[in-house]
Amino acid sequence: MKITRLSVYQKDLPLRDPYWLSGGRLRFDVLDATFVKLETDAGITGWGEGTPWGHTYVPAHGSGVRAGIETMASAIVGLDPRKVEQVERAMDRCLPGHYYAKQPVDMACWDIMGKAFEMPVADLLGNRRASGTPAASSVSSGEPEYMLSIIDDYRSRGYIAHSAKVGGSDIDKDIARIRYIEAQRRDDEIILYDVNRAWTRREASIVMNAVAELGVTFEQPGETLDDIAAIRQITTSPISIDESLVTLQDATRIAREGLAEVFGIKLNRVGGLTKARRMRDLAIAHGIQMFVMATGGTVMADTEAAQLAQSIPDAFIRACWSCQDMLAVDIAPGSGPRCIDGVITVDESPGLGVTPDENLLGDPSASYP
Ligand code: MG
Repeated sequence: MKITRLSVYQKDLPLRDPYWLSGGRLRFDVLDATFVKLETDAGITGWGEGTPWGHTYVPAHGSGVRAGIETMASAIVGLDPRKVEQVERAMDRCLPGHYYAKQPVDMACWDIMGKAFEMPVADLLGNRRASGTPAASSVSSGEPEYMLSIIDDYRSRGYIAHSAKVGGSDIDKDIARIRYIEAQRRDDEIILYDVNRAWTRREASIVMNAVAELGVTFEQPGETLDDIAAIRQITTSPISIDESLVTLQDATRIAREGLAEVFGIKLNRVGGLTKARRMRDLAIAHGIQMFVMATGGTVMADTEAAQLAQSIPDAFIRACWSCQDMLAVDIAPGSGPRCIDGVITVDESPGLGVTPDENLLGDPSASYP
């Protein structure tokens, strides 16, 4: 089987509500999404989506995805999409780094492989758990009462996992946010306090030690792995790392040096399923639990994450994310796994199990050849 054509589509995805990160420093209203369609000489088509969370969050941006694909396209067309590591090496040789541009291509290859072998991607990844994965909400930063109102809204839809955004220069307010939300946390709920790199080492040590007795988990409490290594030494709360988990080498360092107890694997950040499954295996081998998520995007990007999440044993998966619920548009009505009663479940549909409505995507912005 050979890839005969690679088509690229751009789509703006407006958020339902404005979204704030890092104690309100960063605001997001719309995501710049890229969709990839791979056609093959076997008549099987695969789809991928790469949607960075804006361009101020991590080093990735929508137009960069499309420019990266343009650079790699001639190395991709003609390859067998079922040989995902061959495609991976071709892309890495053609364009070192820039993992966020490779992820939608890798995703479309896995979709084709699943369709070719008539298996869902989670089974191709080793084993699809029978049960789905709890979806985590993403709770915009704000006053404690405002944040709890967002959590309450998600609770009414069945969510039991929440990623509450903290991290501002007013660390007293962060302590108040965490204490207020924890006081109202239900017994079965998973609440992650996501700092999004906003704290200095001093701020991290003050807040994390002030609420240490609560035993809550903090995500990305510092800018770099060196910062988190230093914070790890002077705090006891569990730590999750997502934004600084980019390569397998990062994952190896985090595991061996004990920098974190949880991996937050973002498919677009790490370059797709082919690279992410190695991180999954490394995490399991080191007793590290995982959150799995798209960096942003529609039901398509969520489905890629849900497939990986459902290949992870119960004891190691915390939650995945349903970004689609934050968007004002749906590019695949009636298709793909949706968050039902707070859980995303991938079924036995071959491949990813989600296909966009091409009428909603419009014409491709580029096609290769
Ligand atoms: Mg995070």
